[in-house]
Amino acid sequence: MTKVNPEFATELTKYGIGDFNACFNCGNCTATCSLSTSDSSFPREMIRYTTLGLEDEIRSSLKPWECYYCGECSKECPRQANPGELMMSLRRWLTAQYDWTGLSGLLYRSLTLTVTALLLVAAGVFLFARTVHFDAEALLHTGHRFEMLAIATVFLVIFIPNLFRMWYYTIVKNEVKAPVKRYLTTLSELFVQMFTQKRARDCDGKDNFRWLEHLVLVFAYLSLLFTTVFLNWFGTGSLFIIVLGYVESFLIFVITIHFVSGRIKRNKALNTFSQPSDWLFVIWLLLMGLTAFLVRLFIDLQILEANIWIHLIHLTLLAQWALIIVPFGKWTHFLYRSFGLYFVKIKTMQKPA
Ligand code: SF4
Ligand code: SF4
Repeated sequence: MTKVNPEFATELTKYGIGDFNACFNCGNCTATCSLSTSDSSFPREMIRYTTLGLEDEIRSSLKPWECYYCGECSKECPRQANPGELMMSLRRWLTAQYDWTGLSGLLYRSLTLTVTALLLVAAGVFLFARTVHFDAEALLHTGHRFEMLAIATVFLVIFIPNLFRMWYYTIVKNEVKAPVKRYLTTLSELFVQMFTQKRARDCDGKDNFRWLEHLVLVFAYLSLLFTTVFLNWFGTGSLFIIVLGYVESFLIFVITIHFVSGRIKRNKALNTFSQPSDWLFVIWLLLMGLTAFLVRLFIDLQILEANIWIHLIHLTLLAQWALIIVPFGKWTHFLYRSFGLYFVKIKTMQKPA
């Protein structure tokens, strides 16, 4: 029996969407959306489910992950019901549903809690730095070890269980019977979507620059992670690795500056409504790119010891990023969207009974 939650629409407002009740179900948004197909139609259906409080249907749906938030549907909506933002809010809500710790939901719903968590992490970094007497060598060493430990822990303790929950809600609960072989033969879809986000190119109005910017950012971010964690960027003497890290951190800085300015100017439909989680994501990425660049520059100029504050700021941002924004914030959308499109492919390969 279908379960109805009459409070669902109210609950969703805590994840960003404003008043969408003006929707009169005309279907303009679905007709406008270039990603919506006869087999997978959205966003109108999601608006109906939300209005009716069909929480279980939404939890087991992958459609919110098929939307790339171009904002065309919101522009064409005659009632300003903002279907693009509703899809974004559903993605935040789903992220909270997949997260077994419950922290995603708490942080999305409360800015006070988010700020408190960021301050606690900052205090932890400061106290640790005090115990090693702000020694540059010790801080560099610990920062490097922390990165490796944080990546492994977040994947094993948070992401893997959460991805199983997502799979359970969207595949098992929908009674999709897929043999293991199909998961393996479809794996290429996961990696192609994850690293190229190629589906975003079909999002109206074919904003290839936005897609390209995202692509460069993803590669710059992942390769800087690799360069700092596995090639020990802050500790290496290799000129190639040093220059590589400079280029990667510079690219991150430049692209995120452009993203932040777009959000400030609200120059596109997707920038019209920015939630704290959106700001946190771009600002922290920007600051991490900038401070990583400066730490390496100070090492090369041999002035890091006299300016240990820059490394302390970088470590603080890194810890906040690794412990809050990556496991419980907007970063997870990158992961869930890739798996969402992978699961869609697995579902569509199911032969009709
Ligand atoms: S959200 Fe707007 S465009 Fe979509 S069905 Fe409702 S009124 Fe029509
Ligand atoms: S924001 Fe773009 S991709 Fe998302 S539902 Fe609207 S038109 Fe489709």
